[in-house]
Amino acid sequence: MGTRAVAHPTRTHVAPFTVLQIPKRNRYFTKGVSFVVQLPPGQSLTSIARPLPPDLPSLPMPVDPASLSVVTYPHPALRKRAKPIDKITDEVRAVAKRMIELMRQEEGIGLAANQVALPWRMFVADVPHSDNAKDDRSLNTDPISATRGPVVFINPVLSEPKRDLIPVDEGCLSLPDIRGEVRRPSEITITYTDLEGERTTLRAGGLLARCWQHEVDHLDGALIIDRMVPIDRMKNRAAIKDLEEQFESEKPL
Ligand SMILES: [Zn+2]
Repeated sequence: MGTRAVAHPTRTHVAPFTVLQIPKRNRYFTKGVSFVVQLPPGQSLTSIARPLPPDLPSLPMPVDPASLSVVTYPHPALRKRAKPIDKITDEVRAVAKRMIELMRQEEGIGLAANQVALPWRMFVADVPHSDNAKDDRSLNTDPISATRGPVVFINPVLSEPKRDLIPVDEGCLSLPDIRGEVRRPSEITITYTDLEGERTTLRAGGLLARCWQHEVDHLDGALIIDRMVPIDRMKNRAAIKDLEEQFESEKPL
């Protein structure tokens, strides 16, 4: 979208016009704002236009990564199906970095963009390995079951789930104090784009396979409380209700 101006030049250089957007300066103007200015010779519209006061409606602004925080159930963003990311921009990179920071702060092994209220198909994961060969987190398993540090998964697609369903106790940063058994295939393949824009395919088992499935569920608006075995859902009923009441009470009026 470019600058759109309707000018009626006169001999005295007085021009009433409407500016919709000046993209280069990243400033937005509302439709229908009309004002009269004197245009000195050589002066452009961009140099005289002023941004809207903050209380007027504006077009979506770029995300400020510092303002992101982990949202908890029943925040509506957790129920949205996230949209694919078209291009790896500086903004996407900055958001991914911030998500890794938040995941570490909250001591999680994965965090989806829905959990920071951004409906983008992206998640970060850092599934640690262990020297204990019997540990599910070992890096030396085939297929892999841990990551070497934090990894960013953009537009992930899961395929070829192993035909088994293993129950494992799961928690979620967006569902504090709630845990329950979720049955999932023990191995799965993921195809994703990394921050360099490269598409990669990996297969994992163990905790990493579980993490991928949990995070891709988030991108589709699904939560562990939807997938929990019925007895655990029953056990968590009061905690789920508490979260709903807390969210309601913190809503701005
Ligand atoms: Zn989660």
